[in-house]
Amino acid sequence: MNTTLEAGAPQADVTQEKHRIATVGVVGAGVMGVGVAQNLAQTGHRAILLDLDDEILGKARREIERNVRFHGMMSRQKGGPTLPEVMERITFTTDYAPFAECDFVVENATEKEPIKKGIYPVIDEVCPPHAVFAANTSCISITRIGGWTGRPDRVLGMHFMNPVPLKPVVETIRGHFTSQDTIDTALLLLRQMGKEGIVVNDFPGFVSNRVLMITINEAAWEVMDGVATAEDVDRIFVTCFGHKMGPLATGDLIGLDTILYSLEVLYESYNDPKFRPCPLLRKMVDAGLHGRKSGKGFFDYTV
Ligand code: NAD
Repeated sequence: MNTTLEAGAPQADVTQEKHRIATVGVVGAGVMGVGVAQNLAQTGHRAILLDLDDEILGKARREIERNVRFHGMMSRQKGGPTLPEVMERITFTTDYAPFAECDFVVENATEKEPIKKGIYPVIDEVCPPHAVFAANTSCISITRIGGWTGRPDRVLGMHFMNPVPLKPVVETIRGHFTSQDTIDTALLLLRQMGKEGIVVNDFPGFVSNRVLMITINEAAWEVMDGVATAEDVDRIFVTCFGHKMGPLATGDLIGLDTILYSLEVLYESYNDPKFRPCPLLRKMVDAGLHGRKSGKGFFDYTV
């Protein structure tokens, strides 16, 4: 199913539902934040996209323009918004002040606990009391994140998949204190975004990444051990198991830095050596080989 069409489909009236979600703050304008902001704007929401500096925000703006232009024709055939309409709905900012208007926040900052821990007390202070906070984290415990705020009942996990506008399902995580009202609000937002949420309970890595991160890590060990080339490792998953993408190409798509940080979170959270990051992965991240977003990872994206 091509959900770009859904992301660009006629918009829900986002002001007329029980849980009013008109303005959504998006923290972090990297791979995920850009996709979340674009999807929100294409489905009629106002998005406030925040990152650390104007250079990152400029890159985010160009990325959204390119994506909307690319998919624009298809979405407009279904009555979707034009590029100027989408761009007009997104505020690019380095300042949290506009978050005072937010009904909902999706946090997509780097997968490092100290970074995320610095953000939640700030949004807790600035956002209205009714605002819900969704952590788009790969692995960090939602219960722990909720504890960084004064509203743990209004904090949940929303693990969007990449690329966000194309992926129809979001792993939706209930932390220990997350209320049913918060889950309902999040599921409503997802419906407005043309998506479905699958609700799961909170353990680090949730359902998807507890399995996926080990798989990608083990594939990196196979390359390091000389069992096979990256091409052949992936070819076996694609041709033998019918996967659309092998584990190493999936790692490149997610970002090898994000894979490494996620494995570190899982290793620390479960105290289990099965999550130990492969030294080759660490070396590649140290070398700046972060996958697609840097142009090179296990595969080359510069050509
Ligand atoms: P990314 O590295 O592409 O982007 C992270 C962004 O966060 C960067 O632009 C960075 O400047 C910004 N940032 C860092 N510190 C910040 C701060 N203090 N305040 C505001 N912004 C800050 O990473 P990503 O792939 O977009 O991942 C973001 C989050 O989403 C991570 O928690 C990751 O685990 C999760 N996630 C990633 C994927 C994926 O496929 N990449 C999928 C699901 C969830």
